Amino acid sequence: MDLNHLTVDAARTAIQERSTSSVALVESFYTRIQKEDSQIGAYLTLCKERAVEQAEHIDRMAAEGKSLPPLGGIPVAIKDVMCTRGVRTTAGSKILETFIPPFTCTAVRRMEEAGAVILGKLNCDEFAMGSSNENSAYKPVHNPRDLERVPGGSSGGSAAAVAAGMAVATLGSDTGGSIRQPASFCGVVGLKPTYGRVSRYGLIAFASSLDHIGPLTRTVKDAALMLRTIAGRDPMDSTSADIPVPDYVAELQKDVRSLRIGVPKECFGEGLDSEVRASVEAAIQKLAGLGCEVIPVSLPHSPYAIPAYYIVATAEASANLARFDGVRYGFRSAESRTLSDMYRKTRDGGFGAEVKRRIMLGTYALSAGYYDAYYLKAQRVRTLLTRDYEEAFQKVDALVTPASPTAAFKLGEKSDDPLAMYLADIYTVTANLAGIPGISVPGAPTKSGLPIGVQILGKHFDEATILRLAQACE
Ligand code: GLN
Repeated sequence: MDLNHLTVDAARTAIQERSTSSVALVESFYTRIQKEDSQIGAYLTLCKERAVEQAEHIDRMAAEGKSLPPLGGIPVAIKDVMCTRGVRTTAGSKILETFIPPFTCTAVRRMEEAGAVILGKLNCDEFAMGSSNENSAYKPVHNPRDLERVPGGSSGGSAAAVAAGMAVATLGSDTGGSIRQPASFCGVVGLKPTYGRVSRYGLIAFASSLDHIGPLTRTVKDAALMLRTIAGRDPMDSTSADIPVPDYVAELQKDVRSLRIGVPKECFGEGLDSEVRASVEAAIQKLAGLGCEVIPVSLPHSPYAIPAYYIVATAEASANLARFDGVRYGFRSAESRTLSDMYRKTRDGGFGAEVKRRIMLGTYALSAGYYDAYYLKAQRVRTLLTRDYEEAFQKVDALVTPASPTAAFKLGEKSDDPLAMYLADIYTVTANLAGIPGISVPGAPTKSGLPIGVQILGKHFDEATILRLAQACE
């Protein structure tokens, strides 16, 4: 049995039937991390003692013949923007280098309550700001499929860990594409749920109205299992929705025949790489072959999505990041004599260049003289973009688009040009502005051998349909 490439289901069954043990799985993942991760850089912190303890507990249950919980004994890992009690949580930033949270993020807690074993915390762009994982204050992540290329971002560590067999499944966060785009670059499945579907309690905030937590997995079925575990109302997050959580795994049984899928013409224009286009079109053909009705649609405000996103996201980030002042968490500059000097030097030394750029942009967009011209206008555009989707979803059940205009690019290729980096988010940011769910599933392999993600977008709280369509593409 190849212990490092099992699905959630297969691993759980093997532990339950005692053909392997959770401890053996955990050991085998740590061995692989020891061997491979010096080249990949997916992990920032390991918590082995804790993991082995959790695994032993599950193995005892299996030995006693008790039925295991849904994620019983499964080795998983968590993007380092989710707080884990007693385990260092850095958000990929130097300013939180020594931060040990006193509480656990709800999504992580729900995974642990379902029996999952946490191997460690995963590398990411600083405060989840980026599309290549090159903005981590610690080290870049390399794409396991080609070490010269980026894994995508900001959940680069989460995608790379699954792709390299260094975790069965992981959690990531998606503010403008950070689950779907790295999933696309590394050839794994990445799901961003509807806004409010999964609690954000304990997620270090980047842009609160755009942030989402979701799973990265080897298969669509695993994504359904993970979502079922982490979804649902949480009294600790007032934006979490009080809407029943369907059994996403059972929903996968239904076939996709006669579902109407929309193909937005704006997503297939200029700037789209021809291999990506071919792969996404092949997926659409496949769905048509399974009985889906393919309908051309339009999202006319798409050209304004990137500027609107980068105004709203930076504005919210500038407010959220005000709390990192050297008083409450982590790093404090030692060389200051007055309080304001301490704030200044802590933030100057603790934040990286991209984070500073966004704090400045966001503060500017919110300032009295420019609020109407930038922030208010961006919010209006956000409404128009949301209406585009509402109109499209009157005609179709889901939309199929590329997840990213290109396959994984080389490290360093875009890192000197923030605008080129921002433009790579063209197909993902609108779903965050509108709060609709989206999934990236690996499409047909290309000549170059690099993975390409097919993105499927759905109606609010209709994750079940996009999961079904994604499974049909697998
Ligand atoms: N790449 C986008 C950004 O840099 C999205 C990041 C994210 O989803 N966390 O803002």
